[in-house]
Amino acid sequence: MSRESLAAKRRRAVAVLDRLAPLYPGGEQALLEHRDPFTLLIAVLLSAQTTDAAVNRVSPELFKRWPDARALASASLGEVSEVILSLGFYNTKAKNSILCAQKLLADFGGVVPQTMEELTSLPGVGRKTANIVLNSAFGHAVGIAVDTHVFRIATRLRLTAASEPLHAERDLLRVVPQSYWSMINRCWVLFGREYCCARRPHCARCPTNDLCPSAGKAVQ
Ligand code: SF4
Repeated sequence: MSRESLAAKRRRAVAVLDRLAPLYPGGEQALLEHRDPFTLLIAVLLSAQTTDAAVNRVSPELFKRWPDARALASASLGEVSEVILSLGFYNTKAKNSILCAQKLLADFGGVVPQTMEELTSLPGVGRKTANIVLNSAFGHAVGIAVDTHVFRIATRLRLTAASEPLHAERDLLRVVPQSYWSMINRCWVLFGREYCCARRPHCARCPTNDLCPSAGKAVQ
């Protein structure tokens, strides 16, 4: 099979996104429940290695007790751990949430900053989390949030051959026009749940199977 040119890959990526966008409206809205940039930041931080639904189950109680950075900064590790006990790695997540709130308070007056550099200076906050917050809370599409769904789908669509999310984001930024960056995470998370599942993707009924080199061949 001949090697696909960058231009052809870009056209294919746009065709995939144009076909999926109407199926999953909502643009840059995050799937995690939140009411402001702070609650979104903490919710994304808690969502590592777990489902959005699991985070949405604990976040109402968490944000009722500690609604902002000032409150969470003075919470005890034991109290926060108890509230998020049902999540994987709850102890580390509780610790990072408190440390994150403390740094927000110390360095940013308790206000969530709006740059990648400042956001990734916060404990537990990597590019994926920062991209979601910048995109969904502030409307700044400076990158693409590559989570487990986006990574899997980009790999199956052969838009990247990278072995880890950071490099996959770099590849996606080259092939996906910037006007699509803000919608890709939400869209592909929902597409990944419905069609391009981690186990047994539904290639036969997938709306983009004619554009996917892995159609009918994708395994875990
Ligand atoms: S054809 Fe299969 S592997 Fe390709 S995007 Fe669709 S579900 Fe995923």
